[in-house]
Amino acid sequence: MKETLKALGILEKNHGTSTGDHWLNSSGEYIQSFSPVDGSLIGSVQATDKQSYEKVMVMAQTAFKEWQKWPAPKRGDIVRQIGDALRAQKADLGRLVSYEMGKSYQEGLGEVQEMIDICDFAVGLSRQLYGLTMHSERPGHRMYEQWHPLGIVSIISAFNFPVAVWSWNAMLAWVCGNVCIWKGSEKTPLCSIACQNIINEVFKANQVPEGVSNIVSGTAEVGQWMSEDIRIPLVSATGSTRMGKAVAATVAGRLGRTLLELGGNNAIIISEHADINMTLVGAVFGAVGTAGQRCTSTRRLIIHESVYNEFKEKLVNAYGQIKIGNPLDEHNHVGPLIDKQAVEIYLKAIEKCKDQGGRFIVEGGVIDGVGYESGCYVKPCVAEVSPHMSIVKQETFAPVLYIMKYQTIEEAIDLQNNVPQGLSSAIMTLNLREAELFLSSQGSDCGIANVNIGTSGAEIGGAFGGEKETGGGRESGSDAWRNYMRRQTNTINYSTKLPLAQGIKFDI
Ligand code: NAD
Repeated sequence: MKETLKALGILEKNHGTSTGDHWLNSSGEYIQSFSPVDGSLIGSVQATDKQSYEKVMVMAQTAFKEWQKWPAPKRGDIVRQIGDALRAQKADLGRLVSYEMGKSYQEGLGEVQEMIDICDFAVGLSRQLYGLTMHSERPGHRMYEQWHPLGIVSIISAFNFPVAVWSWNAMLAWVCGNVCIWKGSEKTPLCSIACQNIINEVFKANQVPEGVSNIVSGTAEVGQWMSEDIRIPLVSATGSTRMGKAVAATVAGRLGRTLLELGGNNAIIISEHADINMTLVGAVFGAVGTAGQRCTSTRRLIIHESVYNEFKEKLVNAYGQIKIGNPLDEHNHVGPLIDKQAVEIYLKAIEKCKDQGGRFIVEGGVIDGVGYESGCYVKPCVAEVSPHMSIVKQETFAPVLYIMKYQTIEEAIDLQNNVPQGLSSAIMTLNLREAELFLSSQGSDCGIANVNIGTSGAEIGGAFGGEKETGGGRESGSDAWRNYMRRQTNTINYSTKLPLAQGIKFDI
């Protein structure tokens, strides 16, 4: 790991505030980053204080004046070079993500690949950013709309995707002409430092103004400064619904914009027409991958009564094969939870589930002994539940899977929708009628609805996000770029008269 840290420019003690090439002094406390993999202290990062925050803001405002003048395709070329730099550092950054966050090395690499993919997407976008033209009711007039950058975009991100979520936002925001201030999770602060070091090389080589890419570090407090700050037109926040509600209320109080990507409670409907073997892989990966710490993790299986027992048996068998251990060892399927606090939350959820009448068919528990010294490794578990239990309606960010029975497809869709969250959903079926009903307006109420793939993970080409308590935001592909721009409608009169709209007469 030493070599990896060196390659990424991570020191034992790191500044946590940066405007690009400059790392700013701060009087903030050092946040220590312990690996959930083995409990070691990887390094520490100094939190941003109010003074250095102000310096970042001033630098960002100045940089925006310059950066917005760069033609979008030229900004796109910078993002293209960032993609290349990430390709070159993919193995190192993937390893750091795995070691600091605890996901498997393969998933760490996958996360960096997502960053590369969004760079490619943003490069193409930099030659588009289309507006519409429309016909004017007035002779000799032309109407069209165009999209301008907003200014400063602040990005608040969660621990579970410590690098990709930033890139989804930053790459689009940059090609749109904005400057960014990123506060990563205090649980994975070194990943942010590594990303800033990687892109800074590209920025320096291309004389990108200081202040286009800014890093601040710290806890919720620093996120609150950004939520309150009227100089920030858009706050893009990814994390828990609790955090989203706080950020939304504060930003709305100053009529700013938010882009919210919050918790999920994702279900797979397993029909009697499902390809059961394929379903098993999708369900197990969805439930145990990243130790159940994806916003799209599968938390509920809604299974047709006629295949319930067969599927349950296969599920128990499959859970018996899961190898839990160091995520950098590619033989293991499941790594640790992020920290001991997450372990407590997992244990409490199991207890609550039992209290509410749930019956565990695969038992959970904390694993100890050699190789598990960090105290963060837990057993993925499965409980048979009634869908009305309150614990089933909450997102427990851990590998706890709830299974339940249904009789009709309409009932299954009702169960799937009857939770406060609305991120990802799936149906496993070879029956066209069922699949289309699930995708129709009477079907899934989620932002993501899949057929014959699980709930977990997404490609960057589609808009990503969810409804209800998931926050309603859309990031990444499709036309999500519009979130980072302001729309302007323009009417141009090339005639010699000044007719008013709606035929209003006004003579002087
Ligand atoms: P969290 O809400 O504890 O923290 C997320 C970020 O918000 C951190 O940077 C934190 O410092 C900051 N924060 C917390 N309270 C804040 C406040 N009041 N004001 C401003 N900033 C604040 O979440 P977490 O434990 O890091 O991540 C797990 C959660 O994130 C899960 O609920 C998961 O579903 C969600 N998530 C959602 C998506 C998505 O795209 N929908 C993606 C990843 C994670």
